[in-house]
Amino acid sequence: LQGLEVVDLWVSVGNKTILKGVNLKLPRGEFHALVGPNGAGKSTLAMTLAGYPGYKVVKGDILLDGESIKDLPPEERAKKGLAVLLQHPPELEGIRVAELLERLKGLYGCKDSVEDLLRRVGLPSDMAFRYVNVGFSGGERKRFDLARVIAMRPKIVVMDEPDSGVDVESIKRIADGIKWLLSQNAGVLVITHYRNILKYVKPHLVHVMIDGRIVKSGGPEILEVIEEKGFAGVVA
Ligand code: ADP
Ligand code: MG
Ligand code: MG
Repeated sequence: LQGLEVVDLWVSVGNKTILKGVNLKLPRGEFHALVGPNGAGKSTLAMTLAGYPGYKVVKGDILLDGESIKDLPPEERAKKGLAVLLQHPPELEGIRVAELLERLKGLYGCKDSVEDLLRRVGLPSDMAFRYVNVGFSGGERKRFDLARVIAMRPKIVVMDEPDSGVDVESIKRIADGIKWLLSQNAGVLVITHYRNILKYVKPHLVHVMIDGRIVKSGGPEILEVIEEKGFAGVVA
């Protein structure tokens, strides 16, 4: 498959098994949503895909364009085209927005200017001189993180709650960024509790995670069932 494939993935953190056989296919050019109650393991999946230390793959595999990336360090995964936006992007005191974007442009051969990248997510060009995420609002952090990922020209993008703690204007800008990524044939997986972002960009598929497994995948109509009957209603 050209895209991301998660195959019977079991992951433990510390002594606790959190993911219990996750299966997921995200072809390039498609937009999927991953929803589920708090504690289901959604962020654990994002962290595991990113290759964070401490997230131990006990069983199963992660494939990007048919090639296993399970044993690669985070930078190698990113170089191969997998970009992950974490729920809480860290502050990088001492590193300016322009420096970080220039470095990524160089690494990934992106021809957009820093101003173009910022403009794509609706951020002003004077943001270029500020330290990354230091004193940024919630919305500015998420928008900048998306500009960072756009500079990487990724094949697959995983976003953990890009619409949490963010104003409506930012949500619309993030949705525009997702549409642009799709237009470049990237596959995008958005983890969300809310339907906020899904109002502005419609998913091809919605996956429901409960207790470390994807228990249902289907069209956006699943969201209406969840709204009415809760997550339990989806599997009933
Ligand atoms: P979600 O993002 O769906 O809300 P998480 O992936 O954050 O869920 O958490 C899944 C489960 O893993 C929860 O029970 C949580 O308490 C547990 N968990 C998450 N991180 C850790 C950790 N570092 N150590 C131990 N347990 C963790
Ligand atoms: Mg949560
Ligand atoms: Mg989470």
